[in-house]
Amino acid sequence: MELIRENERRQAPRKNVMRIKCPRCGNDGDFLEVADGVVLTTRYVQNEDGSFSQEGDESQILGEIKFYCGECNADLTEFHQRFLEMLF
Ligand SMILES: [Zn+2]
Repeated sequence: MELIRENERRQAPRKNVMRIKCPRCGNDGDFLEVADGVVLTTRYVQNEDGSFSQEGDESQILGEIKFYCGECNADLTEFHQRFLEMLF
């Protein structure tokens, strides 16, 4: 009995996690993150052969970050924190 329960847990580890779903249109697959006032700064190093490699991303977001439904564009910013926690 105990073994079976272990297997179930392994197969569906996120069974109880609530998916973010647009309350207006029901979309739960397509989302937009929009950042205001972004300064894009990317550091590059030039290699021996003259080519460049990206060294780091020092971009700064100065404004607000909004989170929208990708289907109906409803403002879902209240879910943004959860979105960040689930972002891998
Ligand atoms: Zn929607």
